[in-house]
Amino acid sequence: MTIKSASDFADMRRAGRVVAKIHEALREAANPGVSLLDLDAIAARITRDAKTTSNFLNYHGFPAYTCLSVNDQIVHGIPSARTLEEGDILGVDAGAIYEGWHADAAITIAIGTIPDKTKTLIEATERAMWAGIEKSTVGTRLGDVGHAIGSVAEKHGFGIVREYTGHGIGREMHEEPQVLNYGRPGTGMKLRKGMAICIEPMFNMGSDATRVLDDGWTVVTDDGSLSAHFEHTVAITPDGPKVLTE
Ligand code: MG
Repeated sequence: MTIKSASDFADMRRAGRVVAKIHEALREAANPGVSLLDLDAIAARITRDAKTTSNFLNYHGFPAYTCLSVNDQIVHGIPSARTLEEGDILGVDAGAIYEGWHADAAITIAIGTIPDKTKTLIEATERAMWAGIEKSTVGTRLGDVGHAIGSVAEKHGFGIVREYTGHGIGREMHEEPQVLNYGRPGTGMKLRKGMAICIEPMFNMGSDATRVLDDGWTVVTDDGSLSAHFEHTVAITPDGPKVLTE
């Protein structure tokens, strides 16, 4: 559903700021020896303290407030007793609902020191997200957004995850349209004022092939290579893209 009023926008931004707060807190707390369940508990507390609810908890039975995806896990990792180790990379995906409006965003964090090649993967994925956000203006076609995102991966030879994509967001976490992380310029739907979309590139160090673990949720790279993920919720306005999750 589109954002129709200033109060809709303010409510969605309020949900978005809670997600930003979760990211900030988990970036601080994610250190060697800390368990994924500890991190999820922090997200749970922030969600409740802000008088928001979680759009992740119980989503098709998902058991937590965050998706925490380590190393070769691309997205949808379930928080567990696993403890972080020096050199890991951790994807933190979180969401919140305020007054029925949803926000959803993700970051990838380095745990301690990581090799330069891994830093490049993380930085390129974040840069691709911003390239997509910059393109997210009234009248731009989704193919242009996807092309801007995908070009960054291609430049580095990283695999672009294709089975999982960005999406519209509003009164539901996942709405139309689907926002692909690749595309042909000048093709696809035109973005309209009042739409909100999640721009969320997932890039792999190796091939783009994925598989789902036996837990039914965790998506991993098929070749075991590292994967990075960044996401923001963005409102399409006459004044340009407005990021709601920072
Ligand atoms: Mg999303």
